[in-house]
Amino acid sequence: MSGTRAQPHSGFEARAAGTANGPLLVIGAGAAGMACALAAARGGAEVLLLERAADTGGTVADALIHTIGGLFDEAGEPVNAGLPLELIERLMAADPRTAPRRIGRTRVLNVDPAVYREVTRRWLAEESRITCLTDSEVTAIETRDGRVHGVRLRVGGGERRLHPRAAVDASGDAAAVRLVDPALVEPGEALAGLVVVVTGAATGALAFPKGVALIKHIRAAVAAGELPEACATLWPDSGIAADEVYLKLNLSAADFDGERMQGTLAQLLDWLRRLPEFAAARLGPCGRLGVRDGGRVRGRYRLQEADLKSARRFEDAVCAGCWPIEHWHPEQGIKLEYLPPGTRYDIPLGALAVAGIDGLYAAGKCLSAEPRAQASARVAGTCWGMGAGLGRLLAAGEVP
Ligand SMILES: Cc1cc2nc3c(=O)[nH]c(=O)nc-3n(C[C@H](O)[C@H](O)[C@H](O)COP(=O)(O)OP(=O)(O)OC[C@H]3O[C@@H](n4cnc5c(N)ncnc54)[C@H](O)[C@@H]3O)c2cc1C
Repeated sequence: MSGTRAQPHSGFEARAAGTANGPLLVIGAGAAGMACALAAARGGAEVLLLERAADTGGTVADALIHTIGGLFDEAGEPVNAGLPLELIERLMAADPRTAPRRIGRTRVLNVDPAVYREVTRRWLAEESRITCLTDSEVTAIETRDGRVHGVRLRVGGGERRLHPRAAVDASGDAAAVRLVDPALVEPGEALAGLVVVVTGAATGALAFPKGVALIKHIRAAVAAGELPEACATLWPDSGIAADEVYLKLNLSAADFDGERMQGTLAQLLDWLRRLPEFAAARLGPCGRLGVRDGGRVRGRYRLQEADLKSARRFEDAVCAGCWPIEHWHPEQGIKLEYLPPGTRYDIPLGALAVAGIDGLYAAGKCLSAEPRAQASARVAGTCWGMGAGLGRLLAAGEVP
């Protein structure tokens, strides 16, 4: 990676200054954006990876997601070869606690989000063709004759202009595509979530059947007014260290109030400490509010729930997905529907190509999809697959 933070060096400026053959612009350094940048760079493309936040890693690192889905199928076989497989290997080599794990009929990769951030950061740094700028974003995109022509960037406190060969919106909420035309983005339709880590729990505090009993106990406490309503859909999960428990609260992003949440968490901790397994519990790191569906682009194709259920194959497949439909409905809460056993569906390039604009793509959770199709395709491992597949095609010039 030839630069981090908001200070590109002159080598990048020289490479980026071209017009028709400017760099590939990837917006957002989360799962899909990092994978896209890495795959394109390995394919020989110069890549500018922009990240609005102060660090790379995206939702997995920022919202503390410790169970990466979509990397393995239900039999434990890797779903997508290439970078997603290399991600598994790198994460396992970096931390002996990283391991595949069964949850219901799914398999996830258990990983410490801090390890994920560090491993992916170092991986980006190995690629000399990637210039990564944090604290930076796209502020305008100009199209000409139905094609991306130029972009304006905020880079730290300054401004730059660029003529990218193509732009990939991997912002998670279609932030860049909105700049072209807000009508190209469908509104998000899922509950957000906040993850907080509790440390000091007794080993095996959630071992079967204790975890199920805890969930029932929490529901009863909410019903009795002992815990706030925000705990009604709380989902506890064992963590990475033996004394950790990850608590996932599921809420509407529009109603989220950080200060009120501090009070809720304090009340929850007090309540937990009355249970023998949590007598010595403390609040550990708290993630950023995670948005499951921040809006999906209108693409040349809209991935359908029926495509998932019928294991549909596409000629322009970019990667495969297999995660259940895990839809956190805004009013009705979680609705988990497993796909038929052995199902793998394709995600086509058409669902990543923004309708009517050549050279503009989306990858990751803001792909073009029905809400319930996105509720499967959004998991982090599948986002890695999308980004890697798209980056490879873009570097090879096999796209409009
Ligand atoms: C509460 C919750 C629980 C989840 N649980 C799981 C789970 O257990 N397992 C699983 O696999 N998945 C889970 N997911 C889903 C998964 O984490 C995300 O869908 C996935 O990581 C999204 O990856 P992405 O690359 O599309 O976007 P992100 O990882 O969100 O990356 C987008 C990046 O773009 C940056 N960005 C945004 N706007 C701009 C801009 N204008 N300019 C530059 N950069 C910008 C953001 O800062 C961010 O870094 C969960 C999600 C949530 C919210």
